[in-house]
Amino acid sequence: MATPPSVPGSLPLLKRLGLGVLDAVMPPHCLTCEEAVEVQGTLCAACFRGLHRITAPMCPRCGVPFLHGGQGGPGGLCPGCLDHPPRYDTARAALRYDAASQRLILPFKHADRPELAGPLAAHMARAGAALLARCDLVAPVPLHWRRLFSRRYNQAALLAQRLARAAHRPCIPDLLARRRPTPPLGELGAAARAALVADAFAIRPRAISRLRGRRVLLVDDVMTSGATADACARALLEAGAAAVDVLAAARVPDPRLQQEA
Ligand SMILES: [Zn+2]
Ligand SMILES: [Zn+2]
Repeated sequence: MATPPSVPGSLPLLKRLGLGVLDAVMPPHCLTCEEAVEVQGTLCAACFRGLHRITAPMCPRCGVPFLHGGQGGPGGLCPGCLDHPPRYDTARAALRYDAASQRLILPFKHADRPELAGPLAAHMARAGAALLARCDLVAPVPLHWRRLFSRRYNQAALLAQRLARAAHRPCIPDLLARRRPTPPLGELGAAARAALVADAFAIRPRAISRLRGRRVLLVDDVMTSGATADACARALLEAGAAAVDVLAAARVPDPRLQQEA
């Protein structure tokens, strides 16, 4: 059968009409509020402006935000990094973990909204551009299988896959495994967190050959004290990784650094 002659402009017109019909049924609205937006899957201007991106000044090592540049100690480091130098090289996070970013992150973690990975990964790609550029492979912080079962997806793995694709790097979603479920770390102090997760992670034996001598970018959704990232970094380095960097969607600020000294 001969292909029908194309009518110039007809396809875009039909697409526009089709989209117009869809929009009339479900006009695109902001990912985190009811405000109308031009493009489905985006934030409205107010929600976008409300997000607090983490920018300098910050700890050069763990990326925790400073109120002012004078908060860094020797080497510009934060108290946490001076007390317990992390095993990873550099960590960065895109957003402050606050009421605004929670409107993206909590539904992403708990309410089956995997499409929120897109805007979160876009912020992370900007904050972690240097880390993405120097990594050999990308891997997420794992969920214990029981939690994976109840949540249906590992949100860190969704972020890792998007970031790896954008940076043209391999992603190994199951590089790390949790040996045992860890309780929510909630309000625990740094030392208690570190003790709880110390040997909670293991490398899958079949992935070890892909890890040796490589620089790994470890991806997580929310970084709190950094204890989880540090425990993962330890497992990766012990299995032969050359170095580990960390990239998170959001970072809980260190309360010690949020008051004017
Ligand atoms: Zn909005
Ligand atoms: Zn630090």
